[in-house]
Amino acid sequence: MSAFDDLFAANAKYANKFRNSDLTGRAARGLAVVTCMDSRIDPLGLLGLKAGDAKILRNAGARVTDDVLRTLVLAVYLLGVERVLVMPHTDCGMAKVTDDDVHALTTSRGVDTRSLDFHTVPDQNAALRHDLTRIKSSPFLPPDLPVGGAIYDVRTGKLLPVAP
Ligand SMILES: [Zn+2]
Repeated sequence: MSAFDDLFAANAKYANKFRNSDLTGRAARGLAVVTCMDSRIDPLGLLGLKAGDAKILRNAGARVTDDVLRTLVLAVYLLGVERVLVMPHTDCGMAKVTDDDVHALTTSRGVDTRSLDFHTVPDQNAALRHDLTRIKSSPFLPPDLPVGGAIYDVRTGKLLPVAP
């Protein structure tokens, strides 16, 4: 028995029905999406996509971190990405706490996380504008790369575009 038995059992059924795929690692719809790890978000479903269509980059808060930029560079030059959508969401846990709150919480559990930057989001619109600018101003990405921002409403399923 392991913590993952349910997953391997589910995969055995999945693989039984799986038809050998001829998809490649390139993004068939030329899209990369940066979104949050929130378990309510189904990035492919809400955007009308399927496996093979897009690169999905997820982290806490949908933040454009150094590692997201690194991944976007690879996605653009190696894997067919020609547009990037940054998609945070309503009711995000990262907008409800500060880094200091998280440090206090972990300290109470005996762990010192002060060397970590959690990129919490005190102002979601400001954070999104900042993150879009990070992508647009990256010297490693094409200057004409279309970069969009939109906030996903976890209650209605609607995507609300944010003015550039
Ligand atoms: Zn979130």
